[in-house]
Amino acid sequence: MSSAINTEVVIVGAGPCGLFQVFELGLLGMKAQLVDSLLHPGGQCTELYPEKPIYDIPALPVCGAQELVDRLLQQIKPFHAGMHFGQEVTTVHKRADGRFDVATAGGLTFDAGTVVIAGGVGSFQPKRLGVEGVEAYENSHVFYRVRGAAEFHGKRLVIFGGGDSALDWTLALAEHAQSLTLVHRRAEFRAAPASVARMQELVAAGQMTFVEGTAESLLRNGEAFAGIRIKAADGSLRELAADRVLAFFGLHPKLGPIAEWNLELEKKALKVDTEKFQTSVPGIFAVGDINTYPGKKKLILSGFHEAALAAFAIQHYLYPEKRQFLQYTTTSPVMQKRLGVAEEPAGH
Ligand SMILES: Cc1cc2nc3c(=O)[nH]c(=O)nc-3n(C[C@H](O)[C@H](O)[C@H](O)COP(=O)(O)OP(=O)(O)OC[C@H]3O[C@@H](n4cnc5c(N)ncnc54)[C@H](O)[C@@H]3O)c2cc1C
Repeated sequence: MSSAINTEVVIVGAGPCGLFQVFELGLLGMKAQLVDSLLHPGGQCTELYPEKPIYDIPALPVCGAQELVDRLLQQIKPFHAGMHFGQEVTTVHKRADGRFDVATAGGLTFDAGTVVIAGGVGSFQPKRLGVEGVEAYENSHVFYRVRGAAEFHGKRLVIFGGGDSALDWTLALAEHAQSLTLVHRRAEFRAAPASVARMQELVAAGQMTFVEGTAESLLRNGEAFAGIRIKAADGSLRELAADRVLAFFGLHPKLGPIAEWNLELEKKALKVDTEKFQTSVPGIFAVGDINTYPGKKKLILSGFHEAALAAFAIQHYLYPEKRQFLQYTTTSPVMQKRLGVAEEPAGH
């Protein structure tokens, strides 16, 4: 593991609790590397309800979910955590020396003093196209996310879904595609009304087609991908020749690799104590929605508290000799220096 990133703490999950964990560790002088399988920070807040207002964050009577994430990112900036997105943590292995080898599906490796699992309800996985044999064509002809729009230009596209992702990509790709068909099981959409209206204009102008129906089976030319067969509401079948299919059916959380790290689980959550928020393996902590203990409530507020206490426990795990005492950000020059807000002494 010569290229492993050496760090005091790896945080698995960059939802609100993982982000705030960076802050609490930073205040105590510890550095963290944050890893998330999604391409952006924010966890459920960003992925599931970015526009919704939250009313139970202390001292913020109302705060948009994405706004909360943006504020947390601003708050943790002084601590310069390493951030790795689009990286699912697949293995966490405790070594004989008490440190941890952590690896991601994308090939990143860490040599970490401790691990904090802030994995929420697990890593979000796209809901797949429910047709036989689709696995063989995923990421070559069938896609659940767009990494680069250009690869879809000039192609015959079929897009599935009725939410914002489906409509946004329909509008973005319609003028660049050779042809584009949007397929949704009904003619009502969850997406923003303005996007739906724009899509209907494109249909009226003959720039794309809308089909009401569901995916029935793949069309193949020998082994080659040739398109998709659609089943309409009345049961009739229709064949759509296509080069690429994009399916936006939303994401569902999956505990995923976390379940395989030999940690004690209770109803798909990691059992922790309420002093350190440590799992059944010393040196591995868990905060936020992923953990459970008597009285646990899956609230952002609870995760913030857990992150503060876990930071002290992590410091003790890494530096058992170090004396611990409580300092206030209001009055502690050391913390203020870490936060980058310390006043320069006069004459400097
Ligand atoms: C619609 C809705 C409304 C809500 N409203 C409120 C509210 O008003 N107030 C409130 O307090 N709470 C609310 N919640 C709950 C709140 O969103 C959660 O409590 C909070 O998001 C938990 O934060 P977290 O950081 O623990 O986990 P999450 O936000 O779930 O983030 C976990 C992150 O870990 C990542 N991850 C998981 N496994 C891996 C892995 N193996 N490798 C890499 N990354 C991984 C995931 O991709 C995800 O980004 C609401 C939830 C929903 C769905």
